[in-house]
Amino acid sequence: MKKPIIVAVDDDAEVLQAIAHDIRREYGDRFRIIRVDSGTRALDVLRQVRLADETVALMLADQRMPGLSGVEFLDEAKRLFPTAKRTLLTAYADTDAAIKAINDVRLDYYLMKPWDPPEDRLYPVLDDLLDDWMADYRPAFEGIRLIGHRWSSESHDVRDFLARNQIPFQWLDITTDPAAQELLDLTGPGARQLPVLLFSDGTILENPTLQAIAEKTGLRRTLDVPVYDLIIVGGGPAGLAAAVYGASEGLRTAVVERHAAGGQAGMSSRIENYLGFPSGLSGEDLARRATTQAQRFGADFLLTHEVCQLATGEGSVGVRMADGSEVRAHSLIVATGVTYRRLTDPGISELTGRGIYYGAAMTEVASVRGEEIYIVGGANSAGQAAVFFANHASKVTMLVRGESLSATMSHYLVERIEHTPNIEVRYQTAVARADGDGHLESLVLRDSVTGECQTVPARAMFVFIGAVPPTEWLKDTVALDERGFILTGPDVLAAGKGAWKLDRDPFLLETSIPGVFAAGDVRHGSGKRVATAVGEGAMAVMSVWQYRAHAGL
Ligand SMILES: Cc1cc2nc3c(=O)[nH]c(=O)nc-3n(C[C@H](O)[C@H](O)[C@H](O)COP(=O)(O)OP(=O)(O)OC[C@H]3O[C@@H](n4cnc5c(N)ncnc54)[C@H](O)[C@@H]3O)c2cc1C
Repeated sequence: MKKPIIVAVDDDAEVLQAIAHDIRREYGDRFRIIRVDSGTRALDVLRQVRLADETVALMLADQRMPGLSGVEFLDEAKRLFPTAKRTLLTAYADTDAAIKAINDVRLDYYLMKPWDPPEDRLYPVLDDLLDDWMADYRPAFEGIRLIGHRWSSESHDVRDFLARNQIPFQWLDITTDPAAQELLDLTGPGARQLPVLLFSDGTILENPTLQAIAEKTGLRRTLDVPVYDLIIVGGGPAGLAAAVYGASEGLRTAVVERHAAGGQAGMSSRIENYLGFPSGLSGEDLARRATTQAQRFGADFLLTHEVCQLATGEGSVGVRMADGSEVRAHSLIVATGVTYRRLTDPGISELTGRGIYYGAAMTEVASVRGEEIYIVGGANSAGQAAVFFANHASKVTMLVRGESLSATMSHYLVERIEHTPNIEVRYQTAVARADGDGHLESLVLRDSVTGECQTVPARAMFVFIGAVPPTEWLKDTVALDERGFILTGPDVLAAGKGAWKLDRDPFLLETSIPGVFAAGDVRHGSGKRVATAVGEGAMAVMSVWQYRAHAGL
């Protein structure tokens, strides 16, 4: 934790050194001591301190300084640190000015030079002031501060990225929080492009890419092992399970993930049907535990890298990333899950990230408090989001295409929805259009039986429809089913058409490329559940061992 600061200001080098020395001797273990040789420079220093979100406990300035006098400096400095205690260092001749300043600028104290012995003439005064200050002191937030606009898709993406990577941050909405503009002003003259990230080391990132944030926060790095035993593409439950089992069994393992570890499950507010967690656990918690577990066993993580090509070759397989880099391994597990299908109705794409979100977007909880919100979809993920948001929004309306929820949603969730008074389910209803000036303001809903349309006011809509496997990059190399899901084991053989070329049969989770396996939601016939994805991740590692034994690795 950063220490609160004591600032000493004096243009006389000897006096400055002496006072700083005495203060450091008594308070150096609890406070950081900064000494500055002029009032103007001290104000600059205080601005930087404010920008870095550090706290000043006490300011001590000599009255007689060229440029700004001590009283003038303390008066200005009050604007930056209103709660800091302010003390003037005076010669006997300046006593009148000091007494006047107590009234005029609400000075806390004035000290006479010289202050020897400090035990009698300095420390008792400062002890008293610092005790008083400490009584109201709350340590400042030390993580990243993010200044942005509530209705900006860029701000939403950054918030989502930081939250899903479990990087603590403080969100400051420029439209509602006066501290946001004040902080921006401190970063210097000229307009800043939002969102702006302020780091505690003073770094400012203006409308950065997620890669730039990942680099700055240490999430993004390069892998230095030339050939791994196992590369896993995708850091959802299947990929994380494969990483835990692969690394724990001694395979040199790396996970390549384009966004954040946790996958779809990372967006889940509460997973209640995962074995061993009777009261459920959040997807974020599961992702954090699994990532730590995999890292403990030695798995490497390559985050914010999107794999865009499979490169097969003699004795090893490789994956090429969007930035052109490549990693190779003896075996590969594809665990890229599924992504939500996008709505294409008028107005939707323009308002995405500005009131319309894909997935649970839990970072939006604060912004939906007390509002009426809409959830599109009728599967478990939509149901779970409805129950979660019902605790925060005044009303949640689910828009479901089908006639009931029971065919698409787990029984426990259907019951939960039925017993939550502020959730309404509108069956056989779809979104026909979204409208709003800069952010979502209303939706046009169409009844698919009568064809009737109704316009409703709406501030937020969360979409959970259709599972599309992100397998475009595999379509020319790996056998897929007609919807793009990866065929494995017996399904590869059943596909015929020469998909499988070896004498032996493919192992259970092996794809049409020997040594390349698939696990989790991306696999044809998978269970689309956290537990089945985790199970498949572990099973895929068993298939890897069979492959290695067969290939003599
Ligand atoms: C909101 C929500 C709530 C849910 N609740 C439950 C529940 O309560 N119980 C339950 O059993 N199931 C639940 N599910 C379903 C469950 O989360 C999924 O079945 C499970 O996450 C699938 O795991 P996976 O590892 O196969 O894929 P995913 O979780 O989809 O993970 C795939 C990962 O691969 C990454 N990726 C994709 N393409 C690339 C690429 N080219 N390069 C690099 N990385 C890539 C993605 O970014 C993602 O992180 C829920 C799903 C959602 C969305």
